[in-house]
Amino acid sequence: MVKEELRSEDEEEKEERKAAPPTPIRVERGRSMGPVMPPEKRARGSTARALEVAGSEALMAEARINLAELVYAKSTAASKEAKGKLFVQIAEARNLQPFPITPEVMMEVAAVLRAADFSSGFQYLMEAKQLHIRIGHPWPENLEVCMQDPDRALGRALGPARKAEEVRPVLWAEWLKKPKTIPKRSAIQPSVGPDVWGLASAFLLREVELAHLTMEDVVFDFDKRTVTLGLSMSKTDPSGRGAKRTRACNCKARSGMKGLMDCPYHAAIEVVGTQNEELKRLDLTEDQIRKAPVVGQKGGPQLMVSKENMVAALKMDVAQMVEEMEGRMEGVPRPNLSQITGHTLRRSGAKDAVRRHQMPLAMVQWLGRWGSEAVRGYVEEALEEMPETEVQLTTWQGLTEKALKLNGKQQKLEQMVEEVRKTAKGDCEELKGMIEGIKAAATPPMVANRATGMVHATAAKDSPQWKESPVLWTTRCGMWRLGGRW
Ligand SMILES: [Zn+2]
Repeated sequence: MVKEELRSEDEEEKEERKAAPPTPIRVERGRSMGPVMPPEKRARGSTARALEVAGSEALMAEARINLAELVYAKSTAASKEAKGKLFVQIAEARNLQPFPITPEVMMEVAAVLRAADFSSGFQYLMEAKQLHIRIGHPWPENLEVCMQDPDRALGRALGPARKAEEVRPVLWAEWLKKPKTIPKRSAIQPSVGPDVWGLASAFLLREVELAHLTMEDVVFDFDKRTVTLGLSMSKTDPSGRGAKRTRACNCKARSGMKGLMDCPYHAAIEVVGTQNEELKRLDLTEDQIRKAPVVGQKGGPQLMVSKENMVAALKMDVAQMVEEMEGRMEGVPRPNLSQITGHTLRRSGAKDAVRRHQMPLAMVQWLGRWGSEAVRGYVEEALEEMPETEVQLTTWQGLTEKALKLNGKQQKLEQMVEEVRKTAKGDCEELKGMIEGIKAAATPPMVANRATGMVHATAAKDSPQWKESPVLWTTRCGMWRLGGRW
């Protein structure tokens, strides 16, 4: 049975919710739950292997499954299947033959989908069309023209999409400077504290991505104060390269001090450090620790936290934070608890990247590994909420012009320096004479102490005692120390 939320949620989230399989409790990154994992290196085709597979029924069966899985990302495939099924169910409920599709069945199903508030109703018809063609029916021009009506009707007047509630990372940071209470977690909720929300916001992670992050996915550079996350593949990465994203400290905390939790680097240190301690208490091999989740369960740090429990803990922390920050959230909208979802951190991070770090759209998209257009919405929203955006736009243009001008000036200066160098070479003899003159003036035959009025004979001109600054000179009598101040 397909159930769709009332025309709500952002597109990204909606797609996932309908399709994503439940998060398993154990960490197993392999075929059974994720996309097909690519080999370390791209393998080379082998004729022998091809013929071996083709000659074996067992190997063929596996090969077919592999191919089918790769045709669509697994979650998309699940959702497509569900869409086709609902089309058939609706048609049958109307006492109509679903296939071959006729204009009548198409409009009937479209009317039902619309009445039931499906916001992506047209996708159901598209899936039905594909099934129709796959079964072997022709798709004539008249059906194509008929499809245009539900396309328009099902996409019209849907109202604005509801989005996951935003929780500004700065709120977390402020709260955690002096928290009264950190909410207690249940055994199956994350063992790490609220710092983890800062980390997830900084890297625009969905709750599932946060749950799947393993210890070996996080790499620090303590000199540069950066943290790199290796993030698993997404729909935007069908060739399976995986994504690495690096962010630097932006709280400028002194080394050895606890930084702010909305700082990517310091939040990561806090979270990974805490989890490392937890894992060390267990009798695990190094390899097991590397493969362990960064966010483990309170009752078993080596166990992965489910989506539901991740969001439950997030809600608990937001509630506590809102309570303690009451009256201190000037100008910041109070987060609505009922709309906190697994996408809250992602959206909050995206908007924060624009609002506070002035990250341009392309960079936010890249940071978030976004395939969908949802990021545009987030970025646009953040910009619209910033009254200074107009100013920034002009400043941005101004800055670009200034940078170009400066670049021109820089080039001129470099030319001048080059000219001077050339001239200096020609005046080499003159320069040597000048240097000798300066040397002579710097090594006088006698020096007078202005405080005592005494005149002291200096050491010989070539004496090493004449080198360096007058402060270090020594007179022949030895009474001249520290430039005569002794
Ligand atoms: Zn920092």
